[in-house]
This record gives sequence, structure tokens and C-alpha cells, in this order.
Amino acid sequence: MQNKQQKLKKKRVKKWSIARHIVQGFILLWFLSPLVLVEVEGENFFYGTLASSEIFGIPLTDPFAALQVTLASKQIQWGFLGGALIIFAFYALIKGRVFCSWVCPINTLLEMTDKIRNYIPLPDKPMDRHTKIYIAIITLILSFLIGIPVFEIISPIGNTMRSLVLTTTIGLLIVLAIVLYDLVVSRRGWCRYLCPLGGMYQSIGKLGLFRVKFDHNLCLGCDQCRSVCLSDPEILEPGINRITTYVNDADCNLCGKCVDNCPVEALSITLKKHDPIRVSSFQQLRKKYFEA
Ligand code: SF4
Ligand code: SF4
Repeated sequence: MQNKQQKLKKKRVKKWSIARHIVQGFILLWFLSPLVLVEVEGENFFYGTLASSEIFGIPLTDPFAALQVTLASKQIQWGFLGGALIIFAFYALIKGRVFCSWVCPINTLLEMTDKIRNYIPLPDKPMDRHTKIYIAIITLILSFLIGIPVFEIISPIGNTMRSLVLTTTIGLLIVLAIVLYDLVVSRRGWCRYLCPLGGMYQSIGKLGLFRVKFDHNLCLGCDQCRSVCLSDPEILEPGINRITTYVNDADCNLCGKCVDNCPVEALSITLKKHDPIRVSSFQQLRKKYFEA
């Protein structure tokens, strides 16, 4: 216990947050680079947006944009699908929603504006975090029915890029509406509940090699990790309640904030292995209901 109290007092380097903010800054610069015409041997080594781009001639496409375009045009777009497959395989290997916390520039902005809540009490209306999956499905159906890639028309990322290139205001107005929604309706509401791109990545979020892991010998049940979770705090509950060793929920985006803020270092991001607590809980339930 004394050991735990000493750890509580120790000031720690928030290494996952630092690493993530460096990556977020790099991604922002990278995607703004076409605006300042970075050139390699007379040609841009990179051009495009987060929806569709090319790096040294390799096409990279957001899988959700590729799906919308394919459904809207009712034709197989091999260029789009090839680029989408590369991105899909990457996130399926790491963990789906890692895009949201490490790459998406809208999340970068919303994380910054969320800090206003540290100083001013603002409303926070919770919603079902699966709503964004339903919105993603509706977006795909609408794209097929009306022949337009629906989300790409209103996407805050795409519109912001277009606004910067064409010096229009539509992208900035969409982003402003999202920021206001997060501040006056629901904390982190866009990323947690509404963004269909996040919904698409949530739908593959059970895949991936990495997970947040609990050390139940250290955990005090203080709920500090819940209070900082960039996704939904409830995804940490099975771990805190010792039902699982890992945060297995598809919504975890591996932001690492829970790891950095746990006062006793009970959390880590690691390769997922066999989960003995989950198995023993399952065996206990089976014993209770089927072998009684
Ligand atoms: S894992 Fe969460 S509940 Fe447990 S000690 Fe760390 S911050 Fe507190
Ligand atoms: S569980 Fe941890 S790593 Fe996952 S989203 Fe929440 S704070 Fe981030």
C-alpha cells in the first residue's frame, strides 16, 4: 500500500500523449505540404487529402471514401479500392480507431477546444456511441441510392482542405459547427457519437494486435482512466471491474491517455495475448448457469 502511495505522488512523463501529439503535428504538416508545393525533382512527392492521396506514386485512399465512391458510381474503382486496401490492412493490423486519435486533424482540433471545459462548465449530453456506425451505414445506403458519395460532400476534413486551397469558407463553417456542437451539446460528441468515418473504423475495431492492458495487482479502482478517456469512459469498466485484462471494446482508439494518467501505472499498451480473467469469468458463468 505504501508502495502504491509513493507511486501516486510520482510525477510521470506522459509518453503516449507526447508521441501522439508529435504524430498529430507531423500529419498536419504533411497534409498541408501540397499548399506550399514541396517538390522532389520537380514533382510533388505527395499530393491529395486524407480521403485520397498519392505518396511517391503509391495511391492511398480512405476505405470509407472508396466505399462511397464505388457505391455511388456503381462501378468497381480499382485505383480507389487498391489504395483503400493498403489503409484498411494497416488499421486492421494495429487497431481500427487508431486513425481517430493519431491521424484525424479534426480530432486534433477538438482535443484542443475540449480543454475549454477545464475552465467553464458546459453541457454534456451522452448518446449511444454506436450511433456513428448507424450513420456510416445510412451514408453508404444513401450514396448508393442518390449516386453521390454523401459524406465526402460534407466531410470536415475534405472541406477544410478545399477551403484552404480555394480560399472559401464552407469548410471552416462546417468545422466551427462541429466545435460548437462539442462545446454546447455533448462533450467530444462528434468523435464519440456522430462521425461516420469513426463509425467505419469502430466497425473494424475488434481487429488489431494492440490493446490497453490492466495490471489488476496495481489498479486501485480510482476511475482516473475513465475521466480522461478520449473515447467513451464506459469502455474501461470491464477492466476496472476485473472482468477483462484488456480494453477489448472496438471504440478504443489507443490514444494512451488512460495509460499516461493512471497514478499507479496499472495500464500499458501492449500486444494482445490470451486473457485469463476473461476465460475464468466465462468458466464461472458456465459453472453457475449450466453445471449448477
Ligand atoms: S487503471 Fe484506472 S481505475 Fe485503476 S488505478 Fe489506474 S486510473 Fe485508477
Ligand atoms: S481506453 Fe485508453 S487508450 Fe482507449 S480510448 Fe480510452 S483513454 Fe484512449
